[in-house]
Amino acid sequence: RTVYVNGEYLPETEAKVSIFDRAFLMADGVYEVTSVLGGKLIDFDGHLARLERSLTELDMPKPKAFDELLEIHRKLVELNGIDEGMVYLQVTRGAPGDRDFAFPDPETCEATLVLFTQNKPGLAANPVAKTGIKVISIEDIRWGRRDIKTVQLLYPSMGKMMAKKAGCDDAWLVEDGFVTEGTSNNAYIVKDGTIITRNLGTDILHGITRAAVLRFAREAQMKVEERPFTIAEAQGADEAFYTSASAFVMPVVEIDGESIGTGKPGDVATRLREIYLEESRKAGI
Ligand code: PLP
Repeated sequence: RTVYVNGEYLPETEAKVSIFDRAFLMADGVYEVTSVLGGKLIDFDGHLARLERSLTELDMPKPKAFDELLEIHRKLVELNGIDEGMVYLQVTRGAPGDRDFAFPDPETCEATLVLFTQNKPGLAANPVAKTGIKVISIEDIRWGRRDIKTVQLLYPSMGKMMAKKAGCDDAWLVEDGFVTEGTSNNAYIVKDGTIITRNLGTDILHGITRAAVLRFAREAQMKVEERPFTIAEAQGADEAFYTSASAFVMPVVEIDGESIGTGKPGDVATRLREIYLEESRKAGI
């Protein structure tokens, strides 16, 4: 696989980043994951806008190649022959000569920019979307700026492991009694035809797939309510699902051992997945 590091396209085994890189020592980095369908980038503009926002919120300088990000994405997709998969991008504050809590001077410390692809043939036709997935609920103990897409992913990783241990696929995080989001996705329920998902704030990531799916839902005259919901409300819902750039729209059929609706992927989730895939393929760049 060819990867991109600070202006160079290299075989992954030759790519190097300093051990003093702030992301390695302090999780001082932000990232984006853009999916690829039919060799085209999905929702690229949204991912780039969110990246810019993450950088601004953390007072992190933009890497030099910022203007060329689309070109770098496209080149990696081409070099690695990706038809379906993902492009991962990470920006860090760079590697000052030593370990220090204070941010380094951006004049003397250049941002680190890394991109690589993940080949996932069959991503859109994922058979799991036909059966749905099971989630557990766990307490949300992450930091308070989940709207910034940082590489601090230890607790989400632990959540995934807790889910696995419980024989499930993912965990939904709960704060003050209400679901915030999944470990790496936005959470939704459907009741009497209304799609309910937590409103945006600093407590969840502003999903790019969420924005697109809500837009398609409204265009299809579906009712949408952006508000918090509890696990009990989710368990009594007709449907549940989640969205993310790597899973698109994924039906959730069980929460903490309780079947949701019929226990099978619901009509709304199934339809939204179809619409999202169809529209995204058309709009991919
Ligand atoms: N919420 C969290 C915590 C995430 O990590 C992600 C994606 O990685 C999402 C939501 C979904 O965001 P997007 O649709 O932009 O992939």
